[in-house]
Amino acid sequence: MGIRSSKKNLQPETSPPSGEERVFQGTAVAPGIAEGKVLIHFQEEESIPFRDLQDHELDAEVARFEGALLATRKEILELQERLAHSAGASDAGIFDAHLMVLEDPSLIDEVIKGVRKEKHNAEFVFQGVIHKFIKTLSAIDDPYLRERAIDLEDVARRVIRHLLGKSGQRLAGHDRNHIIVADELTPSDTATLNRDNVAGFITEKGSKTSHVAIMARSLGIPAIVGLEGICTELENGSLILIDGYSGKIFLNPAPSTHLTYQAIAEEKELVEEGLEVLRESDSTTLDGRHIVLAANIELPEELDEVEACGADGIGLYRTEFLYFNRTTPPDEEEQYAVYRRVAEKINPQPVIIRTLDIGGDKPTECLDLGHEQNPFLGCRAIRFCLNNPEIFKTQLRAILRAGVHGNLKMMFPMISGIEELFHAKVLLAEAAQELTIQGVPHKKDIELGIMIEVPSAALMADVLAHEVQFFSIGTNDLLQYLMAVDRGNERIAHLHDPSNPAVVRILKTIVDGAHAAGIWVGVCGELAGDIEFTPLLVGLGIDELSASAALVPRVKKAIRSLDVTACREIVERALSGERAAEIYARTTGLARTRYPDLF
Ligand code: PEP
Ligand code: MG
Repeated sequence: MGIRSSKKNLQPETSPPSGEERVFQGTAVAPGIAEGKVLIHFQEEESIPFRDLQDHELDAEVARFEGALLATRKEILELQERLAHSAGASDAGIFDAHLMVLEDPSLIDEVIKGVRKEKHNAEFVFQGVIHKFIKTLSAIDDPYLRERAIDLEDVARRVIRHLLGKSGQRLAGHDRNHIIVADELTPSDTATLNRDNVAGFITEKGSKTSHVAIMARSLGIPAIVGLEGICTELENGSLILIDGYSGKIFLNPAPSTHLTYQAIAEEKELVEEGLEVLRESDSTTLDGRHIVLAANIELPEELDEVEACGADGIGLYRTEFLYFNRTTPPDEEEQYAVYRRVAEKINPQPVIIRTLDIGGDKPTECLDLGHEQNPFLGCRAIRFCLNNPEIFKTQLRAILRAGVHGNLKMMFPMISGIEELFHAKVLLAEAAQELTIQGVPHKKDIELGIMIEVPSAALMADVLAHEVQFFSIGTNDLLQYLMAVDRGNERIAHLHDPSNPAVVRILKTIVDGAHAAGIWVGVCGELAGDIEFTPLLVGLGIDELSASAALVPRVKKAIRSLDVTACREIVERALSGERAAEIYARTTGLARTRYPDLF
């Protein structure tokens, strides 16, 4: 039984007899090896069949519809219970609205009457009724009713899946034995996952810097993305083994594959143990340059991992995750409590809280972002906050209050120019003044930074640097906007390339601008955790790297194995006109020579 290899976009092959091993190749985005049963999760619209019914079939059809409602109710209750354990009661409350939809007598009545009168199958009638309800709700200019339309859509999808006999395909009913296979996972989907309820995941869409990949690394869950067509190739319940180092997926792994991977897993474990020894050591190069090494977090649940990985604090706290899977945004008290917990736990080390970076690939149901033609270029992140000062100031007040309980710093995402920065600073000053007037204790001179992730800000780095205390480069978005390449689109993922000479040039401009003004500059995009590029970043003079906690020990070992002189040479050559392939060969060449065991 040989291993058959197929390339990234799945080629339709002659189907081997069931049980024979097949291998698929995707993009590895989170390290680790996992084995488990496939659980397919569909997000896209189901196609609805149409059938004419005979009179004698009508009672059974109505019963089938009622059965689907009950099954959906059970599914939601289970999901609600699980979420209450992992995320807290307030987040789980989102499903109350979903349960109410299922009990809405006018909706149920209209479907049952429709089935009997039109004599069509239940899913067809149900979809028609739902569309009518959604259309009516969406037409009313009221954010609350528009929210209800979203609930309605979500619940309808579940009911239809039950009617189609495709239940269990939502992110429900899985555990550590399952590997989730999906077309796409949204940030709110991934926010409900953890190492105890999933062994790994595979998605058709996505790239190294899409949020599903970032979450997988944060959670320490092996993941592979960019495998177009995999949902139709795999079946629920099949056994698969995934290799989060190479991006290989083995359907029905052969005994020899098991043995090989057992050995690989043991080897990797030894390397990890070797890295643990470095926990207390400094992230300093062989020739004495100290680089601050911090961790990125999305959820406060990751704090234990931050402590365990030996990071110098938190370099990026993505606070928007607090706004997912709920119908109302967190108020000041809730945010204060969370930020305080994070600050206290990490104290005396610093925590850089990034203000709300919503929109683009991170939509949320609890804020009305409106419909936009180009959400990535739209009213997202700081732009949304400046347009919604009350939402922004609520967060700013919470951060300033939490600041007295630890070493908190703050940064604004997506700043594109100085006017935006000034506007944000005015709102920050107002928030501080309100707290002073109310006599509420808060941090007075919070250290303030901006993310450099829009090329216009990078070009103006020398000017912006005089207005803040630090820069943090968001390479995920910076590369996306620099090269006009959607960071989550697997079809053009090769263009999101850090070895592009334009990237080296823009990074150099940012570092020079920061250093000329005497401020420090870090990288908190995914590039910071990619040890193939550590030589390039060290050579550029980056002062801080912030990566997922799971990657911090590897980056520490990389820094400790390098010397600035050799790294600088890579940058000099890159700036002298080398092509991407040459730049990549040099940085990864040095990396593989200095720390071969990490590859
Ligand atoms: C980035 O863009 O590099 C970044 C760190 O922010 P996010 O990935 O959350 O957009
Ligand atoms: Mg960003």
